[in-house]
Amino acid sequence: MASLKMIGKPKFILCNLSDVFLLMLVEAFPQTLYGMFKGLYHGKKCHVPDIATVLNRAWSAGVDRIIVTGGSLEESREALAIAETDGRLFCTVGVHPTRCNEFEETGDPEKHYQALFSLAKEGMQKGKVVAIGECGLDYDRLQFCPVDIQKKYFEKQFELAYATKLPMFLHMRAAAEDFCEIVERNKNRFPGGVAHSFTGSALDRDKLLSFDKMYLGVNGCSLKTAENLDVMKGIPIERMMIETDSPYCDIKNTHAGIKFVKSTWPSKKKEKYDQESLVKGRNEPCLVRQVLEVVAGYKGLGDINQVSSTLYHNTCRHSQKMTFKEEIQELVFFPQDLDSAADALLSGHHETD
Ligand SMILES: [Zn+2]
Repeated sequence: MASLKMIGKPKFILCNLSDVFLLMLVEAFPQTLYGMFKGLYHGKKCHVPDIATVLNRAWSAGVDRIIVTGGSLEESREALAIAETDGRLFCTVGVHPTRCNEFEETGDPEKHYQALFSLAKEGMQKGKVVAIGECGLDYDRLQFCPVDIQKKYFEKQFELAYATKLPMFLHMRAAAEDFCEIVERNKNRFPGGVAHSFTGSALDRDKLLSFDKMYLGVNGCSLKTAENLDVMKGIPIERMMIETDSPYCDIKNTHAGIKFVKSTWPSKKKEKYDQESLVKGRNEPCLVRQVLEVVAGYKGLGDINQVSSTLYHNTCRHSQKMTFKEEIQELVFFPQDLDSAADALLSGHHETD
């Protein structure tokens, strides 16, 4: 038990789900995300800004830290500004595949890259930037950015990851073949990362898992159909992370995973907003707990706390041999304090197992 005391955060131990970690994602339309937490839906004001309420609900549900994901240079700046408002918030810097046109629209892609690099360094010094991304390939949304531009600037962001030694927060939609080819080509400068919001086939899953520094991120979109659930079941828990993808990808009553959900919150339509309730259809961080319940339930894992510990540990750190320097380094999504806390938590589990 001595090692548990080292954590210095009783909440970690006493609260069943305090060690669930959440990835909070800004998807292709970030203004929608920030907008919804400002009460704006498709430009229409429906309720008061409530991000503080949403965050409080998350902390109460046991969420320990949140990553606000940037999807463009401007949005990464905004993500960093949000992250600076609370010690439990962190962020990423990078360009989403649907926004890669912005490199060329500036007229000077290299300058744009340097601005991302500067922002990442600034955010790292502040202890806030924990990953490069989100970046990757999205062939379901080619109307926003063509394949060749997506591929070019996905690859470019490996340079950013290599230069900062940060792990990557990755997005892959209907593009497994090209995606894996690019990761393979860059594997000597791939510091590790997570392919978030995974919705691919069993074949895609296995291809991604063949990269030993790759984790798969699961949210409500990964648990919609019976096939999704089977694919998810085949992801070893040691290679998985969970997230919400808030404000999107909530688990709906029509989804296959719903029967494993145990925790629910009252909800109301946005027009009848009440701060004690969730807004119907708007996903938010506390609901990561439902993702955990579906994962544990469908995999038949009885000890949900052990599952959440493993998932938390996956998110906090991973160790690897850096092939390009032949020395052992550790890459973490989080600063050193949390890393040692996770170690203490795990060694505590080993002692009591
Ligand atoms: Zn994404």
